[in-house]
Amino acid sequence: MTNFIKQKAKEIGFDACGIAKASYLEQDADFMKSWLAAGKHGEMAYLERNFEKRTNPSALVPGTKSVLVVLLNYFPSEKQPSDSLHIARYAHAEIDYHTVLKTMLSELENALIRAYGTDVVNSQFQHTFVDSAPVLERRWAQRAGLGWIGKHTQLIAPGIGSYCFIGSLMLGVELDYDEPIADRCGTCSRCLQACPTNALDGTSIDARLCISYQTIEKKGSVDASIQPNLLGFVLGCDICADVCPWNKKWAIPHRTEALRPALNLYELQKRDWQELSAEKYKAMFQKSAVKRAGFSKLKQNIAFALQK
Ligand code: SF4
Ligand code: SF4
Repeated sequence: MTNFIKQKAKEIGFDACGIAKASYLEQDADFMKSWLAAGKHGEMAYLERNFEKRTNPSALVPGTKSVLVVLLNYFPSEKQPSDSLHIARYAHAEIDYHTVLKTMLSELENALIRAYGTDVVNSQFQHTFVDSAPVLERRWAQRAGLGWIGKHTQLIAPGIGSYCFIGSLMLGVELDYDEPIADRCGTCSRCLQACPTNALDGTSIDARLCISYQTIEKKGSVDASIQPNLLGFVLGCDICADVCPWNKKWAIPHRTEALRPALNLYELQKRDWQELSAEKYKAMFQKSAVKRAGFSKLKQNIAFALQK
């Protein structure tokens, strides 16, 4: 079954697939407890909820024996003009990556059920996850041998880099498990030095200082102390990923048609961002991950980024 899953995942278009034995994530639970206690999650109170489910897949989906993790490269083939404003690469696609990955994961799940029967998953519970449920996806990807978690706190997958989405599927069967790989950050600290807001300390991120959190998740305005440090980013931030030598070595354009860019994104100049109307925003980003921030917040972010 393990070979079947990996072959199917490849046919469906995932760039990597690994499998880890389901278990309680004791070390990660301790780490997360102290991270939350330090308040580094800012206003993201949802991270405090469902702690048991977040750290134990059997509490999330009863009967889970294996965690299947897939990666999908999203590195775009084109760039926004360097003198324009920027949105993080993960949000360049016209269609929200949650939709794209969930469709692909469902295809994989259906193929598995057709081949091995309904007992492979617990269909009474949600069992496919893409960045929107209490699953520590990067940790599972690491456990499933797909990469290591870099000092910028993102997964770095050999041959892909860190510009990849992570999806997971909780399975009720024992499989052949992959071995975690060694951390290859070594003595490098480029991401720490490049972060304009000092959000990284080498082992964790202080979301409150991160441009990504400030421009998307945080309610209200970007903090006054962060506004001068946006460096042109109006939604998300790629600075720590861009400087990573592993991304320079491995990041290549994705091949996923469903991740085609939002219309005219690569033509927008500063002036176009400044004049972005609600109609244009809707036409460009209605189905995209950009809409998470909302039009008003994006317009505010644009105004702050242009002040510099
Ligand atoms: S995404 Fe940007 S602000 Fe956040 S840690 Fe990386 S460089 Fe710093
Ligand atoms: S920039 Fe260096 S330290 Fe940071 S994630 Fe990449 S390899 Fe690791």
